[in-house]
Amino acid sequence: MILITGGAGFIGANFILNWFDTTDEPVVNLDKLTYAGNLRNLASLQDDPRHIFVHGDLGDTALTTRLLTEYQPRGIINFAAESHVDRSIHSPEDFIQTNIVGTFRLLESARAYWHGLQGAAQSNFRFLHVSTDEVYGSLKLDDPAFTEQHRYEPNSPYSASKAASDHLVRAYHHTYGLPVLTTNCSNNYGPYQFPEKLIPLMIVNALAGKSLPIYGDGRQVRDWLYVKDHCCAIQSVIQAGQPGEIYNIGGWNEKPNIDIVHTVCALLDELQPRIDGISYSQQIRFVKDRPGHDQRYAIDARKIERELGWKPAETFETGIRKTVQWYLDNQAWVSNVQNGNYRDWVHKQYEKV
Ligand code: NAD
Repeated sequence: MILITGGAGFIGANFILNWFDTTDEPVVNLDKLTYAGNLRNLASLQDDPRHIFVHGDLGDTALTTRLLTEYQPRGIINFAAESHVDRSIHSPEDFIQTNIVGTFRLLESARAYWHGLQGAAQSNFRFLHVSTDEVYGSLKLDDPAFTEQHRYEPNSPYSASKAASDHLVRAYHHTYGLPVLTTNCSNNYGPYQFPEKLIPLMIVNALAGKSLPIYGDGRQVRDWLYVKDHCCAIQSVIQAGQPGEIYNIGGWNEKPNIDIVHTVCALLDELQPRIDGISYSQQIRFVKDRPGHDQRYAIDARKIERELGWKPAETFETGIRKTVQWYLDNQAWVSNVQNGNYRDWVHKQYEKV
C-alpha cells in the first residue's frame, strides 16, 4: 500500500494510472479536489478496489494520522500542491498553506508513523516529495543545466513555497532520520493537464478560435518531459532511490515557448485543420510578460540515469503528438473542467499589451 497526496491532479492521476499498469499494489489517494483536482481523471478506476480515494487536506494531521494507522502504507508520495506560477503571483497565500504548512504537517504525521514501525517495515519505509526545477531559479542561455548541487534561488511565490517544502523534507532526514527522497522535475506535458498551463491552454484556445497568448517575446526556454516518463522516474525513485538523496528528472528537451506553440499549431493544422484552411499560428498574440519571468530552466538528469537506469521513453516529437491527439479525442473532459471559475481566471491572467 502506498499513500499518495494530490492524486486527482495532472501528474498524480497519471502516476496512479501508470502505477496500475505495472503493479496491483493498492493506493490511498488523499486529495482536496481544488480547481486542479478532478476525479474524472481517474474515472477508469471508479469501481477498482486497488484505488481508495479520500477527500481531504494533506495539512489535516488527524486525517493523515488516521490514514497511516489504518492502511499502514510502505511509502508516501507527496504530489499535492498549488502548482501554477501565475496564480501564485496573484494570490500566494494558498501556496504557503498547502505547499509549506501542508508538507510540514504531512512530514510530522509521517515521522510519528515511521517512528512507530518495527524492523523491515521501518527500514523499508520511504517519503517521496515531488518537486520542481523552478526551485533552482533562472539560467542564462549558456549556463550549464541544473544538477542536484545547484543552489536554490527561487524567484516566484510558487517556487519559493516549493523550495521551502524541499528544505523541510531535507531537514526531516538530517534531523530525525526520516527516509526521504526528493525529485526535482522539469515542465511536464501530457493528458489530463488543466488548461491553464502552456500546452493545453494553446490546444484548447486554438480549437475554440481564441487567441494564443504568449508572454513577452516567447523566448523563455523550458525543458519538457512527457508526464508518463516523469511517473516512471518517480516509480524508480520510490523503489530504488537512496534515502536522503535528490534526483533531478528532465527530458533533455530545451525549447523556447514560442517554438512549443508553433509545434502545437502545426500538429493541429495536420490533425484537425481549421475550416478556412488558415494555420492556427495566425491566432498567436504576444501579451505583457509575467512579472519576474525566469529566462531558462534546464535539467541535468545524468544522476537518475546513471544510478537508477531511468531514461525518458518519449522524444518531444512523439510526446507532443500523443498529447495533441489526446486533447482532440477528449473534448468532453476539456469542457467539463472549463467552468465559470476557470473562465474568470483565464480572463484575469492574460492582460493584452
Ligand atoms: P496539479 O495542480 O495538476 O494537481 C495538484 C493536486 O493537488 C490537485 O489534485 C489538487 O486538488 C491537490 N491539492 C491541492 N492542494 C491540496 C491540499 N491542501 N491537500 C490535498 N490535495 C491538494 O499539479 P501537478 O501539475 O499535477 O503537480 C503535482 C506536483 O508535481 C506538484 O507538487 C508540483 O509542484 C510538481 N511538479 C509539477 C510539474 C509540472 O510541470 N506540472 C513539474 C515538476 C514538478
